[in-house]
Amino acid sequence: KFITFEGIDGAGKSTHLAFVADLLRERGKSVVMTREPGGTPLGEKLREMLLHEKMHLETEALLMFAARREHLAQIIEPALARGDWVISDRFTDATFAYQGGGRKLPFAKLEALEQWVHPTLQPDLTFLFDVPLDVARARLDATRELDKFEQEKAEFFAATRDAYLRRAAQFPERFRVIDSSRPIDMTRQELRDIVFSA
Ligand code: C5P
Repeated sequence: KFITFEGIDGAGKSTHLAFVADLLRERGKSVVMTREPGGTPLGEKLREMLLHEKMHLETEALLMFAARREHLAQIIEPALARGDWVISDRFTDATFAYQGGGRKLPFAKLEALEQWVHPTLQPDLTFLFDVPLDVARARLDATRELDKFEQEKAEFFAATRDAYLRRAAQFPERFRVIDSSRPIDMTRQELRDIVFSA
């Protein structure tokens, strides 16, 4: 199975990703944990550029999909073929949310790239961690040095969050929207229930 974790920066997805991986391992599953952009040596180099260098919006989208192509070929597809569980910190929904929603690249262009890079594969389950913008911003400011995307203005994050929520509404069979502004134990309980019924 292929599970993806999504949400705007500061929504807490990475914390919950490790928790879900542990849950699955406790049940004896073989789990591959990975992330985007990144996940392979080349992908991690592309991630460095994407996070720190200024570039044309379409270059950004193309590099995201270039990194994804490598990630699919080297990590995701072989793992799924072996019967492992793949847990990825972001996947194509992030590109629709950030480059599409946040930066306003037409969705049709992203759909064309998606058709090229993974015409049939979709996650079996996508967790969308959702928090109000002020909560996300406060968490970010408190925790780390901000990358290029994280320095964006509130309007960018509002558009990104909105695009994520619209995607969740468009693909309700695989999306689970998780309110992660609650105490962490409540979120964990909900994740446990969903994963155990998966
Ligand atoms: O998930 P993580 O915070 O590690 O992602 C790194 C950065 O890349 C984030 O700031 C995220 O906003 C950005 N990103 C993006 N477009 C994607 C995937 C990630 O702008 N498709």
